Amino acid sequence: MITLFYLCAMPDITKKVRVRFAPSPTGGLHLGGVRTVLFNYLFARKHGGDFILRIEDTDQSRYVEGAEQYILDCLAWCGLNPDEGPQNGGPFAPYRQSERKANYRVYAEQLVKDGYAYYAFDTPEELDAQRQITPNFRYGHENRGFLRNSLNLSAEETKSLLDQGTAHVIRIKVPADETVHFVDMIRGDVSFDTNLVDDKVLLKADGMPTYHLAVVVDDYLMKISHAFRGEEWLPSAPVHILLWEYLGWKADMPQWVHLPLILKPDGNGKLSKRDGDRLGFPVYAMNWTDPKTGETTRGFREMGYLPEAFVNMLALLGWNDGTEQEIFSMDELIEKFSIERVSKAGAKFDFEKAKWFNHEYIKKAEIADIKGQVLTILKEKGIQLADNEYFEKVLAAVKERMTFLQDFWEQASFFFEAPESFDINAVKPKWSDAKTEFFKELIQCYEAVIAEGAWESVNLENIFKSLAEEKNIKAGELMLPFRVMLVGGKFGPAVFDISVLIGKEETIKRINKALIAFTE
Ligand code: GLU
Repeated sequence: MITLFYLCAMPDITKKVRVRFAPSPTGGLHLGGVRTVLFNYLFARKHGGDFILRIEDTDQSRYVEGAEQYILDCLAWCGLNPDEGPQNGGPFAPYRQSERKANYRVYAEQLVKDGYAYYAFDTPEELDAQRQITPNFRYGHENRGFLRNSLNLSAEETKSLLDQGTAHVIRIKVPADETVHFVDMIRGDVSFDTNLVDDKVLLKADGMPTYHLAVVVDDYLMKISHAFRGEEWLPSAPVHILLWEYLGWKADMPQWVHLPLILKPDGNGKLSKRDGDRLGFPVYAMNWTDPKTGETTRGFREMGYLPEAFVNMLALLGWNDGTEQEIFSMDELIEKFSIERVSKAGAKFDFEKAKWFNHEYIKKAEIADIKGQVLTILKEKGIQLADNEYFEKVLAAVKERMTFLQDFWEQASFFFEAPESFDINAVKPKWSDAKTEFFKELIQCYEAVIAEGAWESVNLENIFKSLAEEKNIKAGELMLPFRVMLVGGKFGPAVFDISVLIGKEETIKRINKALIAFTE
């Protein structure tokens, strides 16, 4: 048995660092995809390298209209813009593989010439027939000897079929009985038995390369130094390693970084869009509408996630800096990120934890940074804002209670509209005439607050408490009813702060209205 060794140092940054995200535009962008983008980006920034976006659209049958723009929009939303890509160009343009079609055939032909690949003329029907006859049929070393390909046909026959324009593909000739080794920067030494690898198609009948050929050719031509991708691509690695070798480029082969999967919350398998639908959380970065079915899948952005929180949450899916720290700014992530600290094991997705990140980021967000999106929510609710300053104060008062920006309305609607109903059950069982009296007098006391600047929290609280003392009722027993009067329910920021914000007239109006409801 011959063993091929491709050892890479860990990580070699003596070459100019050039990394790429290479998605196929086939639909929504899964959070695992965004994490691949993020790790690429952090590594490039940390080492002063380039981050490239390359669109792998050679499989026309899977191409989905709008998916490329959607990917670009997701990257822009996350603040992970590429240095080179289809949108901004770069020295290795074009960055869409369909526009690089002419590049690939010459390499496929060279592989045929050098004996590492061959023409295969089998029709889809012939292959189907083989699959019927041979269980677990694999186009590879066991079968290629009796199929219709240039390894079995004479040179003249092959030439004549090619001259006649007979439909054909080019396949890699994977050697039997060898082990392909490579060093993955996360997994260490990885090896594959070539007997289990089939002769993958490299160039299709339509002249387009398959992913396997295109990814290798473009990683080479674009001088990619480190190839980050999801663990699901690991089975394709032996084909790629062989191609790097057969094309004579192995000295330039990128270092491989197969990132751990993002798992379902229970750890049982890869997190899919269906799990999100089933368990009620998004899996895509942004809303994605399938152009064929018109079906929209919800994304983190539209759920009210802040991009910084999304990025921070993703960074910790499979990586940590070795301490307990969980909140990292982008600059900190760039400084601290290292491949050595990316775990081999899959990372369980925990939506509660994901919510916690967003909550933390909303708490510390500048009003200016979130008010645009919150204003859109208000507009949708039909609220016409007369006073921007009032809105900003309300947002400052409630943001620490919000997990998502969308929670604003639930947390703050009473600042814009008087409650239509009250949580009577929270108040009525303990209601008494003495309490009615208290609030009637409180109205008078509050009416009397007329001095400039006197309608403020501490003063209102003092008035409230002195009156309670005078009436011999515990202030604590009156606070909840007061809150329900102003808010409608048992939630919201500090009750005297609410009074200050909604103002004297509105406070008194709400107490009066609630008293009727409480005493009915
Ligand atoms: N085109 C592949 C994808 O859709 C890229 C895999 C790789 O990065 O090699 O994810």
